[in-house]
Amino acid sequence: MLISKLIESFFMKKIFHLKEKCGVFAAYNSPHAAQDIYLGLYAQQHRGQEGAGVIVSNGSSPHYTHKGTGLVTEVFSDEILQKLEGKHGIGHVRYSTSGHCGSNEIQPLVVTHQNTIIAIAHNGHITNAAKLKREMELNGSLFTSSSDTEVILHKIVHSKSKAPIQKIQDGLKTVEGAYSLVIKLGNAIAAVRDPHGFRPLHLGKRDDAWFFASETCAFDIIGAEYVCEIGPGEGYLISPRGLESFKLHITATPSFCAFELVYFSRPDSYHKSKSTHSYRLELGRALYEEHPIEADIVTAVPDSSNSAALGYASASGIPLDIGLIRNHYTGRTFIAPHQSTRESKVRQKFNVIGDAVENKRIVVVDDSIVRGTTCRKIISLFRENGAKEIHFRIASPMVSHPCYFGIDMPDREEFLVNKVPRNVLNSFLGVDSLGFLSGETLKRVVGENTCRACFTGDYPIHINHADERIEKAKETNHAPYAHL
Ligand code: SF4
Repeated sequence: MLISKLIESFFMKKIFHLKEKCGVFAAYNSPHAAQDIYLGLYAQQHRGQEGAGVIVSNGSSPHYTHKGTGLVTEVFSDEILQKLEGKHGIGHVRYSTSGHCGSNEIQPLVVTHQNTIIAIAHNGHITNAAKLKREMELNGSLFTSSSDTEVILHKIVHSKSKAPIQKIQDGLKTVEGAYSLVIKLGNAIAAVRDPHGFRPLHLGKRDDAWFFASETCAFDIIGAEYVCEIGPGEGYLISPRGLESFKLHITATPSFCAFELVYFSRPDSYHKSKSTHSYRLELGRALYEEHPIEADIVTAVPDSSNSAALGYASASGIPLDIGLIRNHYTGRTFIAPHQSTRESKVRQKFNVIGDAVENKRIVVVDDSIVRGTTCRKIISLFRENGAKEIHFRIASPMVSHPCYFGIDMPDREEFLVNKVPRNVLNSFLGVDSLGFLSGETLKRVVGENTCRACFTGDYPIHINHADERIEKAKETNHAPYAHL
C-alpha cells in the first residue's frame, strides 16, 4: 500500500534531466573567430540547449552579434556566420529555467559604456545576486533581464578603475558564487574563474590565436592545442599587449564541482590532466569494490554511465554488454494519445535490447540518482524484457541537497532520498539489490578540494536562503529540472 502510494505521487511530476547552466567559448586573433566560436559552442552543446549567441569584432568596433533560442545548429546558418566578421569574440550556450528564456536573457549580454562595447558570457550562478541587484537598483541602476550575469556586468562597469584587469578585479570583489566568465572589453578578451573554481575554464592556442572554453573538448574540434586550466580565482587578459595573467583579490578553498566529473562534462574533456572518462572508470571500479555481486552482464544507462559501467565490468570480470539504447534525437516529439506522457517520454528515449538481457542476471550501472523517476521506468523495461535479476549500482552517493552553483536541480522535497524511505527503496525501484558509491570513495577519486555539497549538504559558501526565496518567487512558472 505504501509503495503504491509512493509510486502514484512520484509520477505526478514530469520527467526532466539535471541541466548544466551554460557553456562559454572565446577566440582572440582567429582569422575566422565566428566559425571557431560556433564549433566551440557546438562541442559544448550538452551544457545548454535552449539558446546560443556570439559577438565578434575586428577591433573596438564595429561589433557583430547574433543570438537566438534553440540548438547551436538552429541558431546559426552558414549565411549568418559569414556576416559575423571579426578576429575576436565570445560565445555562449544557454540553459534557462522556464519563464526566463526571452531574448534579453540570451548571452553574451552586451552594453556600451563610455564608448566601449563590453560583452559577457557566464557559466555558473551568483548566490548573492538578489542582494547586489537590490542595492544597485536603489542606487538607480536599470536592469534589462532577470539574469544574475547582468549583475556581474553592472559591477564591472561600476568600477572606477580604467585598466581592464583592475576593472574586473574590482567588479568581482563582492560577487559570490560560481562564475566562469569570458568578457569582451573593446578589442581585448578576458577569462576569469571564481575563487572556488566551481565551473571549469581552460585556455587553448592555435598558431597566433588564443581560445578560452568551459571544456577542453571544444579545443579539439577546432584543432587548437590545450595550454592550461585556469585556476580558481585566476584570470587572463589578451589584448594587443599580449597575454597577461592576473588573480582576483579574494581567496577561497578550491571547490570544483564533483558532478562535472560524475555526470555533466563530456568524457573526452580533461580536468587536472585526466579525462572525465578516466574519472568515471575509476568510480565504476570502486563501485564494484564496495558493492560486488555475481551476475551475467554489466550494462550502462547511456551515455553518461558508459565509463562507470566499463569500470565496474573490468573490476568484476563480468562481461559488459549493451542492454539499453538511447535515442539521441528526442526533441519535441509527438506523444501518442494511448500513452501516458511519462511512459512515452522514457520509451522515446530508451529501449532495451531484449535478447541481451533475457533470462540474465544483470548489473545496471547509472551515474547518479536525483528524483529516481527515469531509472525506475528503465528498471521496469528490463523486467518486461525478461531480466532474471536486476542489481542496480550507482557511481555516486544519493543526491540529497540542491545545488546553488550552476546546476538546475529539483526542490529538496522532490529528491528520491526525501520521498522514499531507504528500507523500501529496493522494492520501490523494483531491483533485487541496490548499491551507492560511498561519499568517502567519491572524495578519494575526484579529489578532496571539490564541492560535493549536493551529496553531503556541506556547502562551500554560506547560502542566504532569504535571497534564494526572493529569486525563486520571481521565477513564475518555474519548473526546473531534474533527472533519472
Ligand atoms: S552542489 Fe553538487 S552540482 Fe552543485 S557545485 Fe556542488 S557538487 Fe556540483
